[in-house]
Amino acid sequence: MRFSRLLIPTTKETPNDATLASHIFLIRGGFIQSVGGSGLYNFLPLGKKILDKVHAVVKDELDKAGCQEVSLSFVTPASLWEESGRLEKYGKELLRFKDRKNNDFILGPTHEEMMVNLVRQTVKSYKQLPLNVYQINLKFRDEIRPRFGLMRGREFLMKDAYSFHTSTEDMQREFALMEETYKKIFTRLGLEFRVVDADSGAIGGSGSKEFMVLADSGEDTIVVCPDCEYGANIEAAVAKPKTYDVSTQVKVVTMKALYDEGVTKVVHFALPSSVELQEVKACNAVNANELVEHEDTDTIITLVADSLLEGVDSLIAEEKSYADISAVQEGDSCATCGGALRYTKGIEAGHIFQLGTQYSEPLGANFLDENGKAQPMVMGTYGIGVSRLLAAIIEQNHDDKGCIWTKESAPFDLQIIISNIKDDGQVALGEKLYEVMLDKGVDVLLDERKDRFGAKMKDYELLGVPHAVVIGKNLADGVVEFISRNGMEKEEVSVDEIVDFLSERF
Ligand code: ATP
Ligand code: MG
Repeated sequence: MRFSRLLIPTTKETPNDATLASHIFLIRGGFIQSVGGSGLYNFLPLGKKILDKVHAVVKDELDKAGCQEVSLSFVTPASLWEESGRLEKYGKELLRFKDRKNNDFILGPTHEEMMVNLVRQTVKSYKQLPLNVYQINLKFRDEIRPRFGLMRGREFLMKDAYSFHTSTEDMQREFALMEETYKKIFTRLGLEFRVVDADSGAIGGSGSKEFMVLADSGEDTIVVCPDCEYGANIEAAVAKPKTYDVSTQVKVVTMKALYDEGVTKVVHFALPSSVELQEVKACNAVNANELVEHEDTDTIITLVADSLLEGVDSLIAEEKSYADISAVQEGDSCATCGGALRYTKGIEAGHIFQLGTQYSEPLGANFLDENGKAQPMVMGTYGIGVSRLLAAIIEQNHDDKGCIWTKESAPFDLQIIISNIKDDGQVALGEKLYEVMLDKGVDVLLDERKDRFGAKMKDYELLGVPHAVVIGKNLADGVVEFISRNGMEKEEVSVDEIVDFLSERF
């Protein structure tokens, strides 16, 4: 591709609302364009190209693992969500609307209901199972605070896969296969990541894992053990229990728990005063949809005390129970090996989930087993934030000048920069190298614009193509420069050897 032909509206302006490097550089590099400033983005040619490359890696690995791609209608009849009981529960992130006949619809924030609907109409027998079906399609979530560019958009691209099985054991086999497949995907994309135990919400169990791209800017706190493999989202992390005695100071946190159909309940949570309440754990402990702050009330009717206090506290309430509601702290001992746990930050790029029959039962997705008996299909669900991955790659790979794309995500393999297009020798060599490398199947961007050399180099640094050849003044001495974007390391290569040099590299 010739730079002069390409729509790359690079700019020096940092968008007002941008704080993260990925947000700043994706906009400044002309990869994406904000639409109306609230979590909606257009993908310009380079952004679209990278999105497609990431998409291709995800698809390739899933297809190799035996998954099948479909494409579901984005507009979803609300009746399907009524069947599953989620229409009410999902809250304000769900965009609802009516058509001209007054039928209710939603824009899919996730597609369990749609996929179960597809499968219940097509699969009837155990002989048709197992099955893993996926799509790479738009999702819409009316996020309360869309922010950080592609990291938390309202409209975003997700890979969502759903597997269907005759037994829990078979679903767990697929879950393990998906974990391995995800590791291949993130490794191919050049990401440093960690697989961690995650909160499974009200379903409970140990059936959920998140794939965290490690980055200081990540929104998630993850608890990791430096001495063993243990890692967990703080929402699900456990440590070796500490012992407390009757002299332990206890604090009480009051919250309002929200349930379906507007039902609410004031809950008091008690825990050692040196320990913080983990709100997601607390929410699960009372099976609520959400917890919101509530001013202190003296009358305690419902009390949930942290399991650390069992046998120690003397609190009294009409309804009292114990549950793990405390946040693991840095320095706590690892439950597996005793190591000193520490915190790190991560970007949630993927989530795999052992669902069971939570959707197949209410939606009646049954199969006939070998004895002709109808049984609900056992399901798994597996998501990847495909557009979020673009942001995650840049959070992990950038410097103060711009992007440094990884090999499999890069918009081009190589950029050839002609410093001065008035110099016929430079132009001739640039054009020749461009043709030769294209012939070899290397994806090349030729910067043959009339601009100053300084401006071209700034754009090179901003766009982050992994390698460049700079044809400049020292061509007169028979030398060009080969640059690696990571570290901006420069190597002089003689003109006679440049074709061989590049051929060896690419
Ligand atoms: P988060 O905790 O970040 O809101 P989530 O738990 O709501 O994520 P899932 O429902 O598991 O996310 O969705 C699957 C994947 O989709 C996530 O792992 C994430 O990579 C991506 N994703 C979720 N919400 C967004 C968003 N608003 N913008 C971009 N990607 C998103
Ligand atoms: Mg979310």
